[in-house]
Amino acid sequence: MSSHQLSKSSFIRGAQCLKSLYLYRNFFSLRSRSSPAQLEKFRRGTEVGIAARKIFPGGVDASPASRFQYAKSVEKTKKLIREGKEVIYEAAFVHDDILIALDVLVIQHGKAIAYEVKSSQKLTDTYILDAALQYYVLMGAGVEIDDFFLIHPDTSVVKQDGQDISDVFRTVSVIQQVKEMQELVVSMIERQKEVLALEETPEIEIGKHCNSPYPCDYMENCWGEKLKTTIFRMPGISFDQKADWIAGGIYNANDLPASFRPDKLQSAFLFAEKTKTEFVNKANIKKFSLQVSYPFFIADVSILKPALPLFAGTSAYQEIPVRFAASPFETIDKQGKTSYWVAESTADSRKEFLDKFLKATSTKGKILIADKDAVVKLFEQLAAIFPAYKRKIQNRIDRFISFYEPFEKGYFYAPRQEGEISFDAIGKVLSPGTVFRKKGVKSPEAFIKIYFRLREETDMFEIPAIIDEIGAYSEFRIQTLGKIYITLVERAG
Ligand code: SF4
Repeated sequence: MSSHQLSKSSFIRGAQCLKSLYLYRNFFSLRSRSSPAQLEKFRRGTEVGIAARKIFPGGVDASPASRFQYAKSVEKTKKLIREGKEVIYEAAFVHDDILIALDVLVIQHGKAIAYEVKSSQKLTDTYILDAALQYYVLMGAGVEIDDFFLIHPDTSVVKQDGQDISDVFRTVSVIQQVKEMQELVVSMIERQKEVLALEETPEIEIGKHCNSPYPCDYMENCWGEKLKTTIFRMPGISFDQKADWIAGGIYNANDLPASFRPDKLQSAFLFAEKTKTEFVNKANIKKFSLQVSYPFFIADVSILKPALPLFAGTSAYQEIPVRFAASPFETIDKQGKTSYWVAESTADSRKEFLDKFLKATSTKGKILIADKDAVVKLFEQLAAIFPAYKRKIQNRIDRFISFYEPFEKGYFYAPRQEGEISFDAIGKVLSPGTVFRKKGVKSPEAFIKIYFRLREETDMFEIPAIIDEIGAYSEFRIQTLGKIYITLVERAG
């Protein structure tokens, strides 16, 4: 039996849904695996947490060697406090059968200050509740907390050369709120413990709470077939609206209220659901292809929004270009013809990106680009930073055409897309031969992972291998986008 009943994360899970807490404790294996996007979020959280330690230099890490050794971590924290250590990272405490590990505990001049680091741009009610639980445990464990701060990246600060990392964080005292929440925390703990003592899984209806504040990893278990209903898969409908409809017994198109007016994409989706065939608006696809017209390029840009500035002159969560690929349409299907670039240096490579992108697209023609809105936003920012490039940047913006437009506007929809307008969903219908890359980097999340490996890699033999892999990924993206476009135009006859 474990030495504690609740932890900070299981308490937050229980605050969202008591059934989720019970399942997590008793039926762990029923969870869905974390998505690549969630794993990337965890990686970012760890990275920000470690960076924030620089605000409190000279601390001692009380982290356990593995997550099963928290008892040792609690003992180590006690010992470090007894020894008079002023700064402790991952300080672990148990009280009332609840384990917490605080990011940083500072005990100086007779005062104990708690710091918890968050990687997000905004502080949410969930973070305050999380802090309130930690305060409860800390006080119960005998650490008289004088103040409690949440620390998170400050997006308004532009990092300067040689500036300390601590300047890009915002530190907010939440002591007042956490004190006011103590009664609530106690009652929530009691309720969660009651639920954990049950013999059977508590009955809790599915609803909006299944996605708030976090998407629950037991949805496949609780929602089952409802996840496959027409209503649940319909694009452009919020989770809350879907939950409301499903709670009201609305699963299929025929049950939809008369007041619901589908947009063009939803109409295409509903047609495909009903007839089990593709919806193809030939006239609109032809009009779109005339707008593209020859000669043209296919291009794709990877934009990073790092939780902390990567270099001076940027702020947290600012868009940074780290890769692009571009190819004249006529070279689609010809191996090795895709131009690509990746930011190899850890320094500011935005000017290099511009030079390379402008060169790769220097000849005449429209540019069919994936994620046009994000790329236009990036180019507008770059035009402000590099005014000498303004005219050329505007030229490229004027030539951009959104690759996804025919899909977002419902000119084409296939049942196999299952409600999604993504590279993978469209690719498996219109370019089945290319979308399933057998090995190597296959997704934007996998690219981010390998990109960070490239930034940290020091082995001179490994670096070219990583760059080659990014080249292969770039070619795969461009080839797939090209084939999707060709097949789409063919569908229009
Ligand atoms: S899917 Fe919904 S009802 Fe089921 S455990 Fe998760 S939050 Fe609770």
